[in-house]
Amino acid sequence: MDVRLDVKTHRVTGTQKLTYYNNSKDTLNKVYYHLYFNAFQPGSMMDVRSRNIMDPDARIKDRISKLKDDEIGYQHIESLKQDGKDIGYKIDGTILEVTLSKPIPPNSKTVFDMKFESQVPIQIRRSGRNNKEGIAYSMTQWYPKIAEYDFKGWHAYQYVAREFHSVWGDFEVKITIDPTFIVGGTGKLQNGDKIGYGYEKPGATVKRADGELTWHFVAKNVIDFAWAADPDYVHDKALVPNGPELHFFYQKSEKTTQNWKKMEDLAVKHFEFMNSTFGKYPYDSYSIIQGGDGGMEYPMCTLILGEGSFPSLVGVMAHEASHSWYQAVLASNESLYPWQDEGFTDFASQESIALLFNTPVTESHSGSYASYFNLIKRGLQEPISQHSDHYTTNTAYGTGAYAMGTILLHQLKYIIGEEIFYKGMRQYYNTWKFKHPEPNDFIRVMEKVSGLQLKWYLNYWVNTTKRIDYGIKNIINTEGATFITLERVGEFPMPVDLMITLTDGTRELLYIPTNETLGNKPVEDKTTQRKDLEAWPWVYPTYTLKVNNTVAEIASIEIDPSLRMADVERKNNRIELGQELKAFEDSTR
Ligand SMILES: [Zn+2]
Repeated sequence: MDVRLDVKTHRVTGTQKLTYYNNSKDTLNKVYYHLYFNAFQPGSMMDVRSRNIMDPDARIKDRISKLKDDEIGYQHIESLKQDGKDIGYKIDGTILEVTLSKPIPPNSKTVFDMKFESQVPIQIRRSGRNNKEGIAYSMTQWYPKIAEYDFKGWHAYQYVAREFHSVWGDFEVKITIDPTFIVGGTGKLQNGDKIGYGYEKPGATVKRADGELTWHFVAKNVIDFAWAADPDYVHDKALVPNGPELHFFYQKSEKTTQNWKKMEDLAVKHFEFMNSTFGKYPYDSYSIIQGGDGGMEYPMCTLILGEGSFPSLVGVMAHEASHSWYQAVLASNESLYPWQDEGFTDFASQESIALLFNTPVTESHSGSYASYFNLIKRGLQEPISQHSDHYTTNTAYGTGAYAMGTILLHQLKYIIGEEIFYKGMRQYYNTWKFKHPEPNDFIRVMEKVSGLQLKWYLNYWVNTTKRIDYGIKNIINTEGATFITLERVGEFPMPVDLMITLTDGTRELLYIPTNETLGNKPVEDKTTQRKDLEAWPWVYPTYTLKVNNTVAEIASIEIDPSLRMADVERKNNRIELGQELKAFEDSTR
């Protein structure tokens, strides 16, 4: 793309040459492009949805309906050619439908040449001009973008609110803009010595041309290209050992200067943690740019608000940078499976943040469990198998994608064991990077690495709203032994870790697998004795086991002592014996 942004009119004029490869088995008679800026017009689907949903995004509300002509966003197509010949198209909201004069057969390519003109909207959501911290341009979802076609067909979704799915490509982008503006974005700047602003080679003399500057970026094998521009950016750099090089762009102010400097060190540590725990970041640079309206992930960069407190700045940095693994490199379909991106990203960043701030990693996901339980309490839970735009409430989407996606992994750790789990996460990344994995691709890797069947788990968690609730139903004291009956109160079957603590302090973990897994998880904690019991077939509502101690010798019995199961009723999970036994027996009758 070759584009010019006029900083007086806020309009972009440009050309786009797209060499499109049809790697599918189908002949394509049409292609679709996204025209995201068209969402920022009164009466757009984004506008109408936001004015009708019961819990609108505070950033949008009815703001789109009030935009004036010079504040809206638009994307006008001035011409479109396929292999040099004009072709027909029509625009419906944020989707451009192109009818090809020459169908594209499988394993062939075609070239589209487009001329377009856009107006950058006042910032409402993600993209736009003049964000609330005074960043001039947040240029995301900013160009006519080809839609993804795969074995499920076209993913040409209207831009209603959220989540994206994109085609892999090599980008070469030339951006011409007023010379006082500093640009940060996806990819690597090719002409740093002609631009300066910290992009020049160390010691190089910068020779800028007169007038506007043209910034030449190249990014290979990425799913999108985003950038931001502001005259007040400072540009810091830091190197992660073994890469990548980190770039930071922010406006100096009382609220940013100290926090950003301190955050830069933690960003380096965050990349080191992610590289070693979840797989190696494949690009050689990453830019953390003040801009946007919160935090939003893009390949090789993120736009984040920059004036928050230090913990929130680190939190948003870690979350967005972790997206590099799940949104940018694995790039599963975020529209259809937002939990596979947002949830996995949240899971990884929560563990990293715990390490960065020296708090227990085992407790790092407790907030996700709390929001899941709260969603249920409010009666708002929906299956997380839905397209991200089609949830009834934003709350159900947010908790479903982020919290339930996080719990999906933390609970999987419980099912297959911690060590295997991390090995599986790396194997998933290394097997599926740059390939758009589907949910089944993820669970198959986890099945192979653990040797356990896990489809039942994915199916219950993603496709249903069934809940986990196990409880201690009954304890019978006989001579020399105790019989404990457990109950599956919820419909969702799970393997059960049951901790028996004796009055002398001895602990024994009883492990009751579910026969759905066709096997047992390995011992996780070698310091505690574990006894493996017969599997609990999921159709049985109860399960009785025998402990060779008298009730008097048992101090407590607890289901899921590691608190990794999203058990919706924990009151029935633990019993202290001794004086409480009588009360417990009474309450179960
Ligand atoms: Zn996210």
